[in-house]
Amino acid sequence: MFEPISDVLIQQLNKKKEPTNVHKGEKRSVIISGAGITGLAAARAFQQAGWQTTIIERRRQWECCGAGIALPANATKQLKTLGLLEAVSLYAQEGHAIAYYDDIGRLLCQESFQGLHPDAHPYLALSHHSLHQTMREGIDSSHIIMGQAIQHLEPLDEGVSTVLENGQIFRASILLICEGIFSPSRVRWIADVEPEDMGLFCWRFLTDNPMPKVTDPHLYLGQNSAFLIYPLKNGRCYCYGHITDSFQRARDASVNLSLLQDTFSDYSRPVKTVIENLDSQSPLICGRMSVMPEPVWNRSGFERVLCLGDAAHGCGPVLQQGVAQGLEDVAVLREELERSSSVTQGITAFVARRTERVTQVCQRSNEKLKELSHTEVQARNLVLKNHGPVHTNGWRWLFQTEV
Ligand SMILES: Cc1cc2nc3c(=O)[nH]c(=O)nc-3n(C[C@H](O)[C@H](O)[C@H](O)COP(=O)(O)OP(=O)(O)OC[C@H]3O[C@@H](n4cnc5c(N)ncnc54)[C@H](O)[C@@H]3O)c2cc1C
Repeated sequence: MFEPISDVLIQQLNKKKEPTNVHKGEKRSVIISGAGITGLAAARAFQQAGWQTTIIERRRQWECCGAGIALPANATKQLKTLGLLEAVSLYAQEGHAIAYYDDIGRLLCQESFQGLHPDAHPYLALSHHSLHQTMREGIDSSHIIMGQAIQHLEPLDEGVSTVLENGQIFRASILLICEGIFSPSRVRWIADVEPEDMGLFCWRFLTDNPMPKVTDPHLYLGQNSAFLIYPLKNGRCYCYGHITDSFQRARDASVNLSLLQDTFSDYSRPVKTVIENLDSQSPLICGRMSVMPEPVWNRSGFERVLCLGDAAHGCGPVLQQGVAQGLEDVAVLREELERSSSVTQGITAFVARRTERVTQVCQRSNEKLKELSHTEVQARNLVLKNHGPVHTNGWRWLFQTEV
């Protein structure tokens, strides 16, 4: 995927290698590779703190993908800090409780979100596209380089130097890798850690809400499968379904719609209604579920290069912590850089502060996903009836522990 860098470029890089004091008192600059939610949040936070920001995005244009995002209170708390909560709320449906049913529609448990977060931040659901678009607002598009990726990376004494595929050279105090769970830059320069397969095949799509008056998320649990409906604004909903598939039979999109319809054909309404309304033109996002086995931040010799968001710690979606943990990364990094006397000290403090929480969040998310997907049905349903939804139980711990 990466071409070897030419001698001319290496000479150019070395010529430009004058060390500068890039922290306090000097121009501080950051390169962000990847303009997903984490990268855009980082760009906003660093711009607000007065850093010069360059974003490099591999896609040539913004796509309108068919997924939704649920944002629990620790995510909306961080959106508020970024000054985005009001704008995001315009496009989002607020949820106040979650209910679990079995596949034939019998209620297993439900719990209100009230009182879960000490500062009562809301639970919101919206399309991924609306969230991404809102996060792009206010970011100077001239600072975003589309259709490019980093081809060469060189640590400098007090910064990093990068060469893009088109030969453009950028130097900055820090490089943030926000390229998602399959990040090529993480694999190439930080750690060749492969994401693990969770033994699940999943589908995500947006469609009309089969029960327009219901505004809270509801989850349906079968033997080896689960289906979640998140009501959105304007009569729409975001659906997520998965099936246990430890043998990796379902590998690609060619099986997507028929497998989805077979898997959920015996489910009660409203799942059945949603599935019946799909046809071969319906945009589905589907694939195997992967998670990072452990957080990966940076490495010796590349201390000013840092992975954030899914690139560092992509985890299972049950606790809906993907966006939240990326936003928390950004908030903590900004705080630690502000209070440290050097960039490297700030990054070291960031890693020390984030590792325990992120490890716990990922472990809990992945365990909960396995619990819901792999255990014996009767026993699982009994635990849910006695202990309540895994979502609210997980968040209770999450919202009360330090970021
Ligand atoms: C089935 C499923 C359901 C989910 N549901 C939820 C949910 O309800 N709530 C929630 O919070 N999270 C959810 N998540 C997780 C959430 O989608 C992710 O955690 C979140 O999108 C991660 O954002 P990111 O910016 O770190 O990475 P990404 O969204 O993956 O963004 C990475 C960006 O980097 C770009 N890129 C990649 N490689 C390069 C490169 N070499 N150079 C330049 N650019 C590059 C990509 O094009 C992309 O724009 C779910 C995930 C899955 C799989």
